[in-house]
Amino acid sequence: MREVTIFEKIIAGELPCNKVLENDDFLAFHDINPKAPIHILIIPKVHVKNFQELKPEVMSGMTAFIQEIASKLGLDKSGYRLITNNGENGGQEIFHLHFHLLGGAKLAWGHFEDADPKGSF
Ligand code: 5GP
Repeated sequence: MREVTIFEKIIAGELPCNKVLENDDFLAFHDINPKAPIHILIIPKVHVKNFQELKPEVMSGMTAFIQEIASKLGLDKSGYRLITNNGENGGQEIFHLHFHLLGGAKLAWGHFEDADPKGSF
């Protein structure tokens, strides 16, 4: 049986989070180890391992939810980066789908083969 992820425990209320926005289907909260002045994690409440396993119809609601967060935080005007790490080579550490929404500064770019991808956010 697979291990329940930290994010599923957050959804269940078994672990705390610094919540930004929630609806029936999705939850957004601040990353515990921010890589930008604003670093939000956005997750579906239904368990999905990663983007590769995401049903396109779930993405529709998720898109509107992410746009709502960006507007709420004023990032719709200033700009932001949206990332999802998929699988081992993508640098995924928590196997419950999440999007990283990064903003609040002009972000550097550069994801090199041998570099830590997290260091270049
Ligand atoms: P991944 O590497 O899977 O794409 O990203 C996992 C993210 O989850 C990392 O940015 C990490 O800082 C964040 N994270 C790990 N544990 C916790 C936690 O308990 N609470 C919160 N808010 N973020 C977490």
